Amino acid sequence: MHAVEVIHSKRDGHRLTDEQIDWVVAAYTRGDVADEQMAALAMAILLNGMDAGEIARWTQAMIDSGEVLSFGDVGRPLVDKHSTGGVGDKITLPLAPLVAACGAAVPQLSGRGLGHTGGTLDKLEAIPGWRACLTQEEIATQLADVGAVVCATTPTLAPADRKLYALRDVTGTVESIPLIASSIMSKKIAEGTDGLVLDVKVGSGAFMKTPERARELAETMVAIGSAHGLATTALLTDMSVPLGRAVGNALEVAEAVEVLRGGGPADVVELTVALAREMLALAGITGVDPAQVLASGQAYEVWERMIAAQGGDPSAPLPTASHVEELVAERSGVLARLDAYAVGVAGWRLGAGRARKEDAVQAAAGVRLLVDVGAEVEAGQPLLELHTDTPQAVDGARAALAGGVVISDEPAARPPLVMDTIRP
Ligand code: URA
Repeated sequence: MHAVEVIHSKRDGHRLTDEQIDWVVAAYTRGDVADEQMAALAMAILLNGMDAGEIARWTQAMIDSGEVLSFGDVGRPLVDKHSTGGVGDKITLPLAPLVAACGAAVPQLSGRGLGHTGGTLDKLEAIPGWRACLTQEEIATQLADVGAVVCATTPTLAPADRKLYALRDVTGTVESIPLIASSIMSKKIAEGTDGLVLDVKVGSGAFMKTPERARELAETMVAIGSAHGLATTALLTDMSVPLGRAVGNALEVAEAVEVLRGGGPADVVELTVALAREMLALAGITGVDPAQVLASGQAYEVWERMIAAQGGDPSAPLPTASHVEELVAERSGVLARLDAYAVGVAGWRLGAGRARKEDAVQAAAGVRLLVDVGAEVEAGQPLLELHTDTPQAVDGARAALAGGVVISDEPAARPPLVMDTIRP
């Protein structure tokens, strides 16, 4: 088999055979297919697409490039959640302990943030002592003892995806639905979960800017789940406005703790409970109301044990920024728009995110939102707080917010949070 023939095939609009897919993914992982050849193939896939059979086979080839994890019998059904990423999306933090408190086990293998969206591991690393890297045995022990683990993916999990994702990032080939769907699903299937709930974000702060593209991605991933015998449900959720009122690592941990203590912003609570309901349904757990479990403090107890099991001190004070400035309303009216992408870029420039994967993040940097979309504001009223340890970054953050914060004379409301549910 030759890489050039496989590239020709897809370039000319043909279907790739199972043999071509298995060979090209394995040979690329071994280093026998060069980066420039895989880049050309990824571009041909982006332009000409793949059908459902090709996508399922491509996903399987990526799973087969590494190890499929097995945690043995942890005494409860395993169920996981994956979000396609957004601004202020700290939902994993309250969700994993909540679902564990309801009786399932949650093996949440997560990543770090890149660009304007935050990464779950970066958030949890704001907690003094917390450790992201666990062995497979440590994950299994924690799942059996605590019921919830949030940790880094192991290096053996779908190595073809790690290599291909880095290549797509620098060759303009990230935005292909077959490639995104197979990338996400190969990692989740290799993780060995019994059920998966996908939170597919839609809007300016998300990968998918339109409901049509988000639905296509969600349907593609649900179909991959079905083809691999993994029970999968997807929610389409709004990401035109940041989730909650905190954007940035330690700020988001503090907000997640508020939610786990029975408070916190209504949208974070709503989405946490909606995702928990779907996860429990897939796990076959009935007769437990996650809203009540959250309000009762039981999920908070699991959180404390989950953080402590990974070396973190759940009662230690979180880092705070050395420099905080406000952004005030330029005029009176209604806060009509608080654009998720603009706030995400502002947080990133303040130091909460990274531009390259080797960059460090500031634990305390980020943005606090003081006013909800639809609220009346007075000229001069503080709308946002900008937190950073590098005050020279504030001008860049203010520039990112220009145009993203709009005050109008018309009434305004935030769009519905959960837009749709997609089942097999
Ligand atoms: N997240 C992934 O894991 N893969 C993609 O291709 C895009 C987002």
